[in-house]
Amino acid sequence: MATQQLDNLLDQIRHCETCKDHLPLGPRPVIQAASTAKLMIVGQAPGTRVHETGIPWNDPSGNRLRAWLELDRDTFYDPAQIAIMPMGLCYPGKGKSGDLPPRAECAPQWHPQVWPLLPNVGMTLLVGQYAQQRYLQNKPKTLTETVKAWRQWAPEFIPMPHPSPRNTLWLKKNPWFEAEVVPYIRDYVHQHLGISRS
Ligand code: SF4
Repeated sequence: MATQQLDNLLDQIRHCETCKDHLPLGPRPVIQAASTAKLMIVGQAPGTRVHETGIPWNDPSGNRLRAWLELDRDTFYDPAQIAIMPMGLCYPGKGKSGDLPPRAECAPQWHPQVWPLLPNVGMTLLVGQYAQQRYLQNKPKTLTETVKAWRQWAPEFIPMPHPSPRNTLWLKKNPWFEAEVVPYIRDYVHQHLGISRS
């Protein structure tokens, strides 16, 4: 029943044209979900490479995210295990310094409809400031302070920096993230997805 409801909702989402007039490449909502998913990844919005293929995290950022989680592509792209729902489901276009923010109308329209149909999600990765602003109560101002305070919301929500190559300097300056937070997430994910390390 929940599966059918989710399939119907995903079909509606994939036909969404709510903000099409603002999208330079037109609507192409990118979302992955099944009612059995145990991990949710809420990112920002697709880049052009993801828009072209329709595959979420199909870019260097996704490669780093998969490396952090020690997940192969087959597992990462298995909706029965992992749901992926960015703050903006379509590519928003380019601004002066990189891609524009996710379309503000997108998450309020779709996220509240998706959540009740994913009852098994126990951990949600909040990748970047837009996801953190939407989902974290009483969060500190900056992304670094927010990620530093991750234990406050774990394991339900984990604030993370974006794994983009543009953030390599941030990762160098904040080695505690890969030393403490990443292993915590990885252990949780492997345990709950039933992945055994050989
Ligand atoms: S960004 Fe969101 S609201 Fe806008 S067309 Fe895409 S799915 Fe619809």
